[in-house]
Amino acid sequence: MKKFQKPIYVTRPLVPDEDDLFKSFRQILDSEWLTNMGDFHQLLEKELRAYLNVPHVSIYNNGTIALLIAIKALNLPKGSEIITTPFTFAATPHVISWNGMRPVFVDIEPDTYTISPSAIEKAITPRTSAILAVHVYGFPCDVDAIEGIARKHDLRVIYDGAHAFSTEIHGKSVCHWGDITMLSFHATKLFNTVEGGALVYNNEYLEQQLRDLRNFGFRSEFQVEGVGINGKMNEFQAAFGLQILKKVKEEQRMRAEIYDLYCNELASVEGIKIPVFPEGVSNSFQYFPIMVEGNKGYSRDTLYNGLRECNVFSRKYFYPLCSSYSAYSDLPSSSIDHLPVATVVSKQALCLPFYSKLGLKNVGDICHMIREITKEN
Ligand SMILES: *Cc1c(COP(=O)(O)O)cnc(C)c1O
Repeated sequence: MKKFQKPIYVTRPLVPDEDDLFKSFRQILDSEWLTNMGDFHQLLEKELRAYLNVPHVSIYNNGTIALLIAIKALNLPKGSEIITTPFTFAATPHVISWNGMRPVFVDIEPDTYTISPSAIEKAITPRTSAILAVHVYGFPCDVDAIEGIARKHDLRVIYDGAHAFSTEIHGKSVCHWGDITMLSFHATKLFNTVEGGALVYNNEYLEQQLRDLRNFGFRSEFQVEGVGINGKMNEFQAAFGLQILKKVKEEQRMRAEIYDLYCNELASVEGIKIPVFPEGVSNSFQYFPIMVEGNKGYSRDTLYNGLRECNVFSRKYFYPLCSSYSAYSDLPSSSIDHLPVATVVSKQALCLPFYSKLGLKNVGDICHMIREITKEN
């Protein structure tokens, strides 16, 4: 079978135009202000507020630190339980543990792969303090149902929106829901600052708290409030991000073409299901996930391995489930019987290469490879 000469990865980062980037780097060098909430930091926060059309944005050195700070800022009771999904990246349950709280895993929805509201309700105990839900692949969680549950039981809601940059529900940013939403700006994410992240929050009262936590608790030279950490984004990252922000819309437009081509080419491959975005929801174009159902004589792993032989590196996002990590596998909520949908989905999910520079020709070739691999087995 045909094989790519050079490896094809699941994604490649958006990079700035060299001249523009170096011009802003020169400005930073001349200013001799390299970090600590400088001009580029301020400007990126401002531009993100405008871009996402949200009231409050604060930026951080990475998404995980941002999420760690988000939980800390809510002042939840020590040792309390946070209900979350096992079908996510390691950072999601880890930030709960780093805050001295206990993750409680519940199952996901079979069509959107997001946390199941009815499963959340069943898992609530007197120790539950919050819900940490993930807009996985950019599919929004059932935000209205989750809001209803949170109100009824007086719980805080945090969204891991690492995949949901610019996702909208009926034209409104998904970040409008919940107390706080985290966005990741890691190089593998649609919008990147090399490493970086943001919190979008909907309550003025969080502003001071988040500021304190991001900078060791320093309010002024001699006043430290609370137990802060170093979560600051530096000026180089912020300047990089400002350049990338100009390119996101065009990248999404080109990814949309790739998305359509994949859908057309793979529609006739038996045993592959392509997830469908719900009505009124905009695709963030972060990933191109497929589900390999395993009922046509080949498995997800057959396809994953077959593609590797062709020099195509797809990714099993998210396998294994976080609940099976050694840190969490002994929790009662990690039992497979308790997570039937997530268990099946984690064995079916595969993210295919998805970025504009991949080009339509290569997408066609990858689809051809997929048809060959699935036919042989
Ligand atoms: C990327 C990612 C994170 C972590 O973000 P970093 O910026 O890499 O720290 C958290 N959650 C999910 C679901 C992610 O995909």
